[in-house]
Amino acid sequence: MSKLKRIHIYVLALTACLISPQLMQAQIDNNYVPFHAADGLLPKSLYDFNLEGIVQQIKGGDQLEAEKLKRLATDIYYFKKEYAEGGNFYLKNELTDYVQSIGDEILVSIPANKNNFKFYLSRSMEVNAFCMADGTVIINLGLIASLDNESQLAFIMAHEISHYLKQHSVNDLKRTADAVTYDNVNQNSNRAVFRRLQFSRDSEFDADGFAINLLATTNFDAMECITALEKLKVSDTLVDSDPQQVLLNKYFKSEYCDFDTSWTSEKAIAAIHDRAAVTSESNLMTQDFGDLLSTHPEIEKRQYALKEIMSNFDYSDIEKVEKFERKDFQYIQRIARFEMVENSMRESYYTHALYNAVRLLEYYPDNIYLNTTLSKSLYWISYYKEINSGKLVVRQPVTTNDKAFFRIKAIIEKLDVTAAKKLSYGNAKILSEALSSNEVSLFYMALNTEHYLGKNASFTYYNKYLKTYPEGRFVEFVNNRLSYMQ
Ligand SMILES: [Zn+2]
Repeated sequence: MSKLKRIHIYVLALTACLISPQLMQAQIDNNYVPFHAADGLLPKSLYDFNLEGIVQQIKGGDQLEAEKLKRLATDIYYFKKEYAEGGNFYLKNELTDYVQSIGDEILVSIPANKNNFKFYLSRSMEVNAFCMADGTVIINLGLIASLDNESQLAFIMAHEISHYLKQHSVNDLKRTADAVTYDNVNQNSNRAVFRRLQFSRDSEFDADGFAINLLATTNFDAMECITALEKLKVSDTLVDSDPQQVLLNKYFKSEYCDFDTSWTSEKAIAAIHDRAAVTSESNLMTQDFGDLLSTHPEIEKRQYALKEIMSNFDYSDIEKVEKFERKDFQYIQRIARFEMVENSMRESYYTHALYNAVRLLEYYPDNIYLNTTLSKSLYWISYYKEINSGKLVVRQPVTTNDKAFFRIKAIIEKLDVTAAKKLSYGNAKILSEALSSNEVSLFYMALNTEHYLGKNASFTYYNKYLKTYPEGRFVEFVNNRLSYMQ
């Protein structure tokens, strides 16, 4: 064996080592550093959309009247611009690389189309993905977090890619153009744009069928399409991601929190779920992509159709492309869940942050980021409970049918102000003892002590904070606090 070849093998072995899931998970055992979403200084590729370029990219656009084509392009332009400027897209990171790699593998059998697609990862926690007429495919963080494997993601992406390849936007627009009055919609409203970018039922069936064709040459398992569609349903049936409720007992039932187990009985949870179904703040996409997300029977029909297609599909002569190297799905999914925790905190969805943090703590019980997030959300929950005299409006970013979420929600709703303060204080105390040198934990210990035991009791902690972290990020806050207490 030549020396060069031996070095080559060594390098390969080293690379294999670097991408092994066990090794990568070690990075998130202890802490987590969230990705920056694309706000503040955006790279040009994320905001500098060009209207003329979008017109050129619209597949089948030449079949539309010039006026309608321009209108469609303008819709897409404003949607992408607002979406990017709102910080909804992620900058390049290992999650975006992963999504890109799945897209590349799907497109490898149709190289001529490769450059027409642009894949984006959105911070949205909705279980969804969508495609625009110019080949922009947006994958939501919530989709990655809820699927079981990469083949399911590949199917959803192949479905979106098919909408573009089959010119569905243009075809649907041509079909419905007469019925749509463009004049009364504000072109800057994402809601209106969404409504117009929605696909017809026929297009959905068509995209499903074509996706199976696209996947046939890849190494993804097309059979996963049935389960993938199942995940898009927000059904009425509650599912349970944490049947043992182990973590609930660990984090909520302690000497610092005496919740009544009847609060989380099957009956109580079902009642909360029913109420949530009526009053949930539906987000933009839930409303406008009703077909894809609601309890609509449409998804079941699509599943039946796919079963028919696959039972008659002849794979015998199809040559598979080479499998792409990429990170392990389970690892990517956990990173997506860490990001959901981060996004929930940014948007003040404290119960949702708790829910995602608790699910991850099962795998990373010592993770500092997760433990401090738990502490932060409990503090803010008790804070807002006090402000609203015991009530807390539990906002949630997405509709879910996971019992684990409703169990946490039930506890948070039922706790009175004093119990909420006690729970938060107890949690902060345990954490600050476990993490003897952590700035966030010490800061929240001080806040909790003030909140639960009064200002005199908190002096020690505030002063300890100033002494330990004279340049710390909460110094200004702490100084204000101390001067107000004197
Ligand atoms: Zn679709």
